Amino acid sequence: MNTLDHQVALITGASSGIGRATALALSKAGAKVAVAARRTDRLRELAAEAPGDMLVLEMDVTDPESVRNAVAGTVERFGSLDIVVNNAGLMLSGFILDADTTDWTRMIDTNLLGSMYTVHAALPHLLRSKGAVVQISSTSGRTSSAASGVYAATKFGINAFSEALRQEVTEQGVRVVVVEPGFVSTELTSHITDPAIQAMAKDMAASMRTLNPEDIADAVLYAVTQPAHVAVNEILVRPTDQS
Ligand code: NDP
Repeated sequence: MNTLDHQVALITGASSGIGRATALALSKAGAKVAVAARRTDRLRELAAEAPGDMLVLEMDVTDPESVRNAVAGTVERFGSLDIVVNNAGLMLSGFILDADTTDWTRMIDTNLLGSMYTVHAALPHLLRSKGAVVQISSTSGRTSSAASGVYAATKFGINAFSEALRQEVTEQGVRVVVVEPGFVSTELTSHITDPAIQAMAKDMAASMRTLNPEDIADAVLYAVTQPAHVAVNEILVRPTDQS
């Protein structure tokens, strides 16, 4: 018997990186997994590779109706919802002076509001199943630094929201887990719109042994496979080489 047999998970931003690796890890552990993102071609490839039952859902986390439909689609197909991994995110690093503020809007809409909409839509189901919410935050949810002000603001926001959520639902058996990765090799930095900052991100990646998406998937799996009375509320995982 697998550890997550009979559990149903929904993972946002599962078309690449950490979300994809987490979907595979939960599927290998026996969960039925709904994978959501905008690039459904990627999700279909993932579902073909997965060892277990996987549902592909087109979802834009910035659109509350799209989020509600994804949650409803998961419950309709699999009958319940036990684990939500709130992972969809965007990092458009840059300095505050002369910033293109549409980058700010996109990050706040995706990282912060998107994850709030997902919790809002999923919570009635998680209260029924006494499930778990995994919030993919960041080291930038604990420390801010130059050229990451707005990204860090979204991740600090996720941490703030998660602690309020924890206090609201823990006595009803719902567990809230905040996972804070350091530098992970994914497509995340490829969306940075400022070429100089993009180059800085590449240099930073080349300067260390970065984490792999699977390293974060392992942390998520650890948290969601604990016995019901154990709430792993926060996991910070950095590359050893990241100062
Ligand atoms: P990727 O760029 O590889 O993955 C991001 C995922 O988010 C994609 O699947 C993308 O799917 C999805 N996404 C983006 N916008 C939306 C949207 N509007 N609606 C639905 N899905 C969306 O990056 P990572 O795997 O690295 O990032 C995953 C999470 O991990 C993010 O929250 C990120 O902030 C966090 N993180 C990453 C770190 C790193 O170093 N890589 C460090 C710390 C935290 P699609 O485009 O198909 O919609």
